[in-house]
Amino acid sequence: MRSTSERASRFLMVQNAQKSGSLDASPFDVYLQPHSDDICFSLGAFAYQRHCGILLTVFSISAYVPLRPGATRPAAEWVTKTRIAEDTAFAEACGLNTRRLELEEPSLLGHHSRDLSWVNKNLKRIKLPLLDILLAAPLDKPSHGRPWLFCPIGIGGHVDHVATRMLVNQNYDQLSLRYRIGFYEDLHYASSATARSVGITNLFQGMRGRQLHRYVFPLGEYVSKKLALIQLYKSQFLAMPRSIEQFTPAVAAPNMPHEAIWSNEPIGPLLQT
Ligand SMILES: [Zn+2]
Repeated sequence: MRSTSERASRFLMVQNAQKSGSLDASPFDVYLQPHSDDICFSLGAFAYQRHCGILLTVFSISAYVPLRPGATRPAAEWVTKTRIAEDTAFAEACGLNTRRLELEEPSLLGHHSRDLSWVNKNLKRIKLPLLDILLAAPLDKPSHGRPWLFCPIGIGGHVDHVATRMLVNQNYDQLSLRYRIGFYEDLHYASSATARSVGITNLFQGMRGRQLHRYVFPLGEYVSKKLALIQLYKSQFLAMPRSIEQFTPAVAAPNMPHEAIWSNEPIGPLLQT
Protein backbone atom coordinates (compact mmCIF):
# COMPACT_ATOMS: atom_id res chain seq x y z
CA MET A 1 0.00 0.00 0.00
CA ARG A 2 1.49 3.37 -1.00
CA SER A 3 1.71 6.16 1.55
CA THR A 4 -0.25 9.36 1.02
CA SER A 5 2.94 11.31 0.22
CA GLU A 6 4.05 8.68 -2.32
CA ARG A 7 0.67 8.87 -4.01
CA ALA A 8 0.75 12.67 -4.01
CA SER A 9 4.24 12.79 -5.52
CA ARG A 10 3.29 10.30 -8.26
CA PHE A 11 0.22 12.41 -8.95
CA LEU A 12 2.30 15.57 -9.35
CA MET A 13 4.90 13.79 -11.44
CA VAL A 14 2.28 12.65 -13.93
CA GLN A 15 0.69 16.08 -14.05
CA ASN A 16 4.11 17.51 -14.87
CA ALA A 17 4.73 14.79 -17.46
CA GLN A 18 1.56 15.88 -19.24
CA LYS A 19 2.50 19.54 -19.10
CA SER A 20 5.96 18.91 -20.54
CA GLY A 21 4.39 17.03 -23.45
CA SER A 22 5.94 13.66 -22.59
CA LEU A 23 2.58 11.99 -23.30
CA ASP A 24 2.51 13.63 -26.73
CA ALA A 25 -0.54 12.68 -28.76
CA SER A 26 -0.20 11.22 -32.25
CA PRO A 27 -2.79 10.81 -35.01
CA PHE A 28 -1.72 7.13 -34.97
CA ASP A 29 -2.66 6.59 -31.33
CA VAL A 30 -5.22 3.79 -31.06
CA TYR A 31 -8.02 3.98 -28.51
CA LEU A 32 -9.10 0.36 -28.42
CA GLN A 33 -12.60 -0.19 -27.03
CA PRO A 34 -14.63 -3.39 -26.86
CA HIS A 35 -17.93 -1.48 -27.18
CA SER A 36 -19.16 1.94 -28.21
CA ASP A 37 -18.84 4.12 -25.04
CA ASP A 38 -15.87 2.41 -23.30
CA ILE A 39 -13.31 5.06 -24.25
CA CYS A 40 -15.68 7.91 -23.43
CA PHE A 41 -16.50 6.50 -19.99
CA SER A 42 -12.90 5.47 -19.19
CA LEU A 43 -10.67 8.04 -20.93
CA GLY A 44 -13.11 10.61 -22.33
CA ALA A 45 -11.49 13.73 -20.86
CA PHE A 46 -8.00 12.45 -21.72
CA ALA A 47 -9.01 11.76 -25.36
CA TYR A 48 -10.80 15.10 -25.59
CA GLN A 49 -7.67 16.97 -24.49
CA ARG A 50 -5.35 15.03 -26.83
CA HIS A 51 -7.78 15.49 -29.73
CA CYS A 52 -6.32 13.07 -32.27
CA GLY A 53 -6.03 9.34 -32.91
CA ILE A 54 -8.15 6.38 -33.93
CA LEU A 55 -11.18 5.10 -32.02
CA LEU A 56 -11.24 1.36 -32.75
CA THR A 57 -14.34 -0.58 -31.66
CA VAL A 58 -14.18 -4.39 -31.59
CA PHE A 59 -17.71 -5.60 -30.77
CA SER A 60 -19.79 -3.02 -32.58
CA ILE A 61 -22.85 -5.22 -33.23
CA SER A 62 -24.91 -4.85 -30.09
CA ALA A 63 -28.33 -5.48 -28.61
CA TYR A 64 -27.55 -3.89 -25.25
CA VAL A 65 -29.67 -1.10 -23.85
CA PRO A 66 -30.97 -0.82 -20.26
CA LEU A 67 -34.73 -1.34 -20.13
CA ARG A 68 -37.48 -0.39 -17.72
CA PRO A 69 -39.45 -3.41 -16.40
CA GLY A 70 -41.93 -4.59 -19.00
CA ALA A 71 -40.41 -2.57 -21.85
CA THR A 72 -39.90 -4.27 -25.20
CA ARG A 73 -36.31 -4.87 -26.22
CA PRO A 74 -35.46 -2.98 -29.41
CA ALA A 75 -33.99 -4.86 -32.38
CA ALA A 76 -30.21 -5.34 -32.48
CA GLU A 77 -30.12 -3.47 -35.76
CA TRP A 78 -31.59 -0.35 -34.14
CA VAL A 79 -29.33 -0.64 -31.08
CA THR A 80 -26.21 -1.06 -33.22
CA LYS A 81 -27.08 1.92 -35.41
CA THR A 82 -27.89 4.09 -32.40
CA ARG A 83 -24.73 3.19 -30.50
CA ILE A 84 -22.52 3.79 -33.55
CA ALA A 85 -24.16 7.21 -34.02
CA GLU A 86 -23.49 8.06 -30.36
CA ASP A 87 -19.87 6.98 -30.75
CA THR A 88 -19.49 9.01 -33.94
CA ALA A 89 -20.63 12.13 -32.07
CA PHE A 90 -18.07 11.41 -29.32
CA ALA A 91 -15.30 10.81 -31.89
CA GLU A 92 -16.13 14.08 -33.65
CA ALA A 93 -16.02 15.97 -30.35
CA CYS A 94 -12.58 14.46 -29.62
CA GLY A 95 -11.05 14.75 -33.10
CA LEU A 96 -10.82 10.96 -33.45
CA ASN A 97 -11.17 8.89 -36.62
CA THR A 98 -13.30 5.78 -36.21
CA ARG A 99 -12.69 2.16 -37.20
CA ARG A 100 -14.86 -0.79 -36.35
CA LEU A 101 -14.72 -4.56 -36.40
CA GLU A 102 -18.22 -5.87 -36.99
CA LEU A 103 -18.25 -8.51 -34.27
CA GLU A 104 -21.25 -9.35 -32.10
CA GLU A 105 -21.36 -8.85 -28.35
CA PRO A 106 -22.12 -11.95 -26.21
CA SER A 107 -25.91 -11.72 -25.83
CA LEU A 108 -26.26 -12.04 -29.60
CA LEU A 109 -24.30 -15.30 -29.46
CA GLY A 110 -26.23 -16.73 -26.52
CA HIS A 111 -23.62 -15.99 -23.82
CA HIS A 112 -23.86 -13.97 -20.61
CA SER A 113 -21.56 -10.93 -20.65
CA ARG A 114 -19.78 -12.14 -17.47
CA ASP A 115 -19.43 -15.79 -18.57
CA LEU A 116 -15.64 -16.06 -18.47
CA SER A 117 -15.75 -19.78 -19.28
CA TRP A 118 -16.19 -18.52 -22.82
CA VAL A 119 -13.26 -16.07 -22.81
CA ASN A 120 -10.78 -18.22 -24.77
CA LYS A 121 -13.24 -18.82 -27.59
CA ASN A 122 -14.03 -15.13 -27.58
CA LEU A 123 -10.31 -14.33 -27.77
CA LYS A 124 -9.93 -16.72 -30.69
CA ARG A 125 -12.61 -14.99 -32.75
CA ILE A 126 -11.09 -11.50 -32.32
CA LYS A 127 -7.44 -12.53 -32.67
CA LEU A 128 -6.90 -12.43 -36.43
CA PRO A 129 -9.03 -9.42 -37.38
CA LEU A 130 -7.79 -7.30 -34.50
CA LEU A 131 -4.11 -8.18 -34.87
CA ASP A 132 -4.45 -7.54 -38.59
CA ILE A 133 -5.37 -3.92 -37.89
CA LEU A 134 -2.98 -3.36 -34.98
CA LEU A 135 0.06 -4.90 -36.66
CA ALA A 136 -0.53 -2.94 -39.86
CA ALA A 137 1.04 0.05 -38.06
CA PRO A 138 4.63 0.61 -39.21
CA LEU A 139 7.48 -0.44 -36.96
CA ASP A 140 9.01 2.35 -34.93
CA LYS A 141 11.56 4.49 -36.71
CA PRO A 142 14.38 6.05 -34.67
CA SER A 143 13.18 9.57 -35.51
CA HIS A 144 9.59 8.96 -34.38
CA GLY A 145 8.16 8.04 -31.02
CA ARG A 146 5.81 5.08 -31.07
CA PRO A 147 2.12 6.01 -30.95
CA TRP A 148 0.09 4.86 -27.95
CA LEU A 149 -2.24 1.90 -27.87
CA PHE A 150 -4.80 2.29 -25.09
CA CYS A 151 -6.34 -1.06 -24.10
CA PRO A 152 -8.97 -1.91 -21.45
CA ILE A 153 -7.80 -3.76 -18.33
CA GLY A 154 -10.99 -5.79 -18.15
CA ILE A 155 -12.07 -4.49 -14.73
CA GLY A 156 -15.63 -5.71 -14.10
CA GLY A 157 -15.06 -9.06 -15.82
CA HIS A 158 -17.01 -8.39 -19.03
CA VAL A 159 -15.93 -11.20 -21.34
CA ASP A 160 -15.31 -8.80 -24.25
CA HIS A 161 -13.10 -6.50 -22.17
CA VAL A 162 -11.12 -9.42 -20.72
CA ALA A 163 -10.59 -11.04 -24.16
CA THR A 164 -9.35 -7.70 -25.57
CA ARG A 165 -6.84 -7.29 -22.74
CA MET A 166 -5.70 -10.93 -23.09
CA LEU A 167 -5.05 -10.39 -26.79
CA VAL A 168 -2.76 -7.45 -26.01
CA ASN A 169 -1.08 -9.35 -23.14
CA GLN A 170 -0.44 -12.41 -25.32
CA ASN A 171 1.00 -10.35 -28.21
CA TYR A 172 2.73 -7.78 -26.03
CA ASP A 173 6.24 -8.15 -27.47
CA GLN A 174 5.08 -7.75 -31.06
CA LEU A 175 2.70 -4.89 -30.27
CA SER A 176 5.18 -2.98 -28.13
CA LEU A 177 7.55 -2.71 -31.10
CA ARG A 178 4.88 -0.54 -32.71
CA TYR A 179 3.11 1.07 -29.77
CA ARG A 180 3.60 2.37 -26.29
CA ILE A 181 0.92 0.39 -24.48
CA GLY A 182 -1.30 1.83 -21.78
CA PHE A 183 -3.96 -0.27 -20.04
CA TYR A 184 -6.86 1.91 -18.95
CA GLU A 185 -9.06 1.42 -15.90
CA ASP A 186 -12.49 0.52 -17.31
CA LEU A 187 -15.21 2.84 -16.09
CA HIS A 188 -17.82 2.70 -14.73
CA TYR A 189 -16.62 -0.72 -13.46
CA ALA A 190 -13.47 0.71 -11.79
CA SER A 191 -15.64 2.93 -9.59
CA SER A 192 -16.14 -0.24 -7.49
CA ALA A 193 -13.07 -0.81 -5.28
CA THR A 194 -13.55 -4.60 -5.29
CA ALA A 195 -13.97 -4.95 -9.05
CA ARG A 196 -11.00 -2.64 -9.59
CA SER A 197 -8.74 -4.63 -7.29
CA VAL A 198 -9.63 -7.96 -8.99
CA GLY A 199 -9.13 -6.49 -12.47
CA ILE A 200 -5.74 -4.98 -11.69
CA THR A 201 -4.54 -8.25 -10.12
CA ASN A 202 -5.50 -10.05 -13.35
CA LEU A 203 -3.67 -7.44 -15.43
CA PHE A 204 -0.47 -7.95 -13.40
CA GLN A 205 -0.77 -11.72 -13.88
CA GLY A 206 -1.16 -11.23 -17.62
CA MET A 207 1.97 -9.05 -17.71
CA ARG A 208 4.07 -11.94 -16.34
CA GLY A 209 6.52 -9.93 -14.29
CA ARG A 210 6.77 -6.80 -16.44
CA GLN A 211 6.69 -3.70 -14.29
CA LEU A 212 3.67 -1.43 -14.49
CA HIS A 213 3.31 2.18 -13.34
CA ARG A 214 0.02 3.96 -12.78
CA TYR A 215 -0.44 7.29 -14.52
CA VAL A 216 -3.23 9.53 -13.29
CA PHE A 217 -5.00 12.18 -15.33
CA PRO A 218 -7.03 14.46 -13.05
CA LEU A 219 -10.25 15.72 -14.60
CA GLY A 220 -9.90 19.12 -12.92
CA GLU A 221 -11.81 21.70 -14.94
CA TYR A 222 -12.89 18.95 -17.40
CA VAL A 223 -15.44 17.30 -15.07
CA SER A 224 -18.40 18.98 -16.78
CA LYS A 225 -16.92 18.32 -20.25
CA LYS A 226 -16.58 14.62 -19.42
CA LEU A 227 -20.18 14.49 -18.15
CA ALA A 228 -21.33 16.19 -21.37
CA LEU A 229 -19.45 13.58 -23.44
CA ILE A 230 -20.97 10.73 -21.38
CA GLN A 231 -24.42 12.21 -21.97
CA LEU A 232 -23.93 11.74 -25.72
CA TYR A 233 -24.65 8.03 -25.02
CA LYS A 234 -28.36 8.48 -24.31
CA SER A 235 -29.26 4.89 -25.23
CA GLN A 236 -27.12 3.56 -22.37
CA PHE A 237 -28.94 5.25 -19.48
CA LEU A 238 -32.44 5.19 -18.05
CA ALA A 239 -31.54 8.38 -16.18
CA MET A 240 -28.75 10.66 -17.36
CA PRO A 241 -25.75 10.67 -14.99
CA ARG A 242 -25.37 14.07 -13.37
CA SER A 243 -22.41 13.16 -11.13
CA ILE A 244 -18.89 12.05 -12.02
CA GLU A 245 -18.83 9.57 -9.10
CA GLN A 246 -19.39 6.48 -11.27
CA PHE A 247 -16.82 7.66 -13.80
CA THR A 248 -13.73 7.92 -11.62
CA PRO A 249 -11.68 4.99 -10.23
CA ALA A 250 -12.24 3.98 -6.59
CA VAL A 251 -8.86 4.64 -4.97
CA ALA A 252 -8.00 5.49 -1.39
CA ALA A 253 -8.10 9.12 -0.27
CA PRO A 254 -6.90 11.62 -1.29
CA ASN A 255 -9.02 10.92 -4.34
CA MET A 256 -10.28 13.38 -6.88
CA PRO A 257 -12.04 12.74 -10.18
CA HIS A 258 -9.53 11.27 -12.60
CA GLU A 259 -8.82 8.74 -15.35
CA ALA A 260 -5.89 6.34 -15.23
CA ILE A 261 -3.68 4.04 -17.26
CA TRP A 262 -1.07 1.46 -16.29
CA SER A 263 2.00 1.21 -18.47
CA ASN A 264 5.36 -0.50 -18.68
CA GLU A 265 6.76 2.63 -20.36
CA PRO A 266 9.45 4.26 -18.21
CA ILE A 267 8.70 6.90 -15.61
CA GLY A 268 10.00 10.38 -16.33
CA PRO A 269 9.72 11.61 -19.86
CA LEU A 270 7.35 9.04 -21.34
CA LEU A 271 8.10 9.91 -24.92
CA GLN A 272 10.73 7.68 -26.46
CA THR A 273 12.41 9.03 -29.54
ZN1 LIG B 1 -17.72 -2.30 -22.80
